[in-house]
Amino acid sequence: MTIDSTVIRKLVKATAERIVAHADELTALDQAIGDGDHGINMKRGFEAILADVDKISALPLPQALQAAGTILVMRVGGASGPLFGTLFMALGKALPDVPSRADAAQAFAAAIAAVQVRGKSEPGQKTMLDVLVPVQCALAGDRPLRDAAAEAAAATVPMKASRGRASFLGDRSIGHMDPGARSSQILIGAVLDVLEEKI
Ligand code: ADP
Ligand code: MG
Repeated sequence: MTIDSTVIRKLVKATAERIVAHADELTALDQAIGDGDHGINMKRGFEAILADVDKISALPLPQALQAAGTILVMRVGGASGPLFGTLFMALGKALPDVPSRADAAQAFAAAIAAVQVRGKSEPGQKTMLDVLVPVQCALAGDRPLRDAAAEAAAATVPMKASRGRASFLGDRSIGHMDPGARSSQILIGAVLDVLEEKI
C-alpha cells in the first residue's frame, strides 16, 4: 500500500484529532489508577506532531514515523512518551517505503519488541502492550484489527497492574481500563479510518 504525503497528512490529522477528542477520557482513566496526566501528555505530543504536519508529510513513510516518534519522546513526557516514541521510531526503522500487510505485521512486531525492551515490560501487566500485542497478532493473522483493539482494551479492566504507576495500587488497579491501552486503541482506530478509505 502506497502511503504518500496526502495519506501521511491525513494520518497525522486523524490521530491528533482523535487524541484531542479523547483527552479528558484518558485523563479520567489515569486519575483512577495513575496520576491523571495521560490525556494531557498525549494531547501535548500529538498537537506538537500536528504543528509539524507540513514537514512530516513531506517525508517518506519510514522517516515520517521516526520524526513523529522523536516529537513524542520529547513532548509527551511521563512513562508513555518514551514508549510511544519508541514504538513510532522503531516502526519507521522497520517499515519499507511501500509496505504490504505482512511487512506491516513484521514491522509492528519489531516496534513492540523495542517498547518491551524500553519499558522492561511484557503483555499481561496492564499496559499499552495489552492492546498492541493482540492487534499485532490480528494483523499477522489477517483478522479484523478494530475488534481486536476494542476487545484487548476492555480486557485490561480486570487485570492487576504490575508495571507503571498503576502497579503501585496493587489490587486496587483491578476494575479500571489501562489509560495507555485505551490510547493505543484510539490511535489504531484513527489509523484504520484513514487506511480503510484507501483499501
Ligand atoms: P506516567 O505513568 O508516567 O504518568 P502516562 O500517564 O502518560 O505516564 O502513561 C501511563 C501509561 O503508560 C500506562 O497506562 C501504561 O499503558 C503505560 N506504561 C507505563 N509504564 C509502562 C511500561 N513499563 N511498559 C509499557 N507501558 C507502560
Ligand atoms: Mg500518568
